Amino acid sequence: MKCSRCSEKAVYIRRYSGQSFCRYHFLEYFERKVNKTLKIEKMLNRSEKVALAISGGKDSLTLVHIIKKLGKKLDLELHCILVDEGIGGYREKTVKIAEEFCRKLDLELEVISFRQEYSKSLDEMVELGKRTPCTYCGVFRRELLNLKALELGAHRLATGHNLDDEVQAILMNYIKGDVERLIKIGTTTGKPRLVARIKPLIEMPEKEVALFSILNDFPVSFDECPYATSFRARIRDMINNLEESSPGIKYSILSGYRKLLGKITSPEVSSSPMRKCEKCSNTTSQAVCMGCRLREELGIS
Ligand code: SF4
Ligand SMILES: [Zn+2]
Ligand SMILES: [Zn+2]
Repeated sequence: MKCSRCSEKAVYIRRYSGQSFCRYHFLEYFERKVNKTLKIEKMLNRSEKVALAISGGKDSLTLVHIIKKLGKKLDLELHCILVDEGIGGYREKTVKIAEEFCRKLDLELEVISFRQEYSKSLDEMVELGKRTPCTYCGVFRRELLNLKALELGAHRLATGHNLDDEVQAILMNYIKGDVERLIKIGTTTGKPRLVARIKPLIEMPEKEVALFSILNDFPVSFDECPYATSFRARIRDMINNLEESSPGIKYSILSGYRKLLGKITSPEVSSSPMRKCEKCSNTTSQAVCMGCRLREELGIS
């Protein structure tokens, strides 16, 4: 099959629009779409300081590559942050990839680890506690990224979440009835001691991000975290099956969620205002933040 815009061979067919793309036009389309999202959602302003969360996976390398390019035009000050949770046999490899990637792009990279900051790696926390690995990982990684971004004086904290990540998180929390987390997924505005989060790849399907990273020859590892849950995998398969029979459904789930978010976060409905954690002063919706509660359960400082 040929590219819809030129006579070159197509490398990708976008089912929900029926267009096909050669290598050149796919890369052009991808970058243009991410830049459009940044503009429409007003994610970045000129001369801002931006902290980029990098893990070494395809999403974060794509994020860093695109923001670095845009950074020149917008005069952005960029800092990469990598959180090493301490997942034996998995994270070491991606840390190396991220270090090499940042070195090539001449970007500053700061590596912080659970072990350094909390005296325990994620593997050790899992041995000690009763919660799922993803609970410790998610809460502590968010906490460290925010603290580091605050320390840097960053205006924004950018993460590499793609369309599939977002839609999976929306449905998982909806199914579990976890309204607090459901709201948090889409809440990105800054609050005192909470750096505004941006997700520049949110409109990009996972397979497009994977193709972008392959076509750019990024040194990506496609290994999956050993703690990845089967629940998320089932939700992922269910959404992919729906997308197969109804192309575009991922976008419609995201757009429905955004409409819902507008209603459930309106002041007359929202019941949990943000405040300072009694123990650590981080911003939270409860008296004691989730990080402090988990630390207490695990007996760590
Ligand atoms: S799948 Fe692995 S990296 Fe992702 S949240 Fe769970 S423990 Fe952390
Ligand atoms: Zn083409
Ligand atoms: Zn706290």
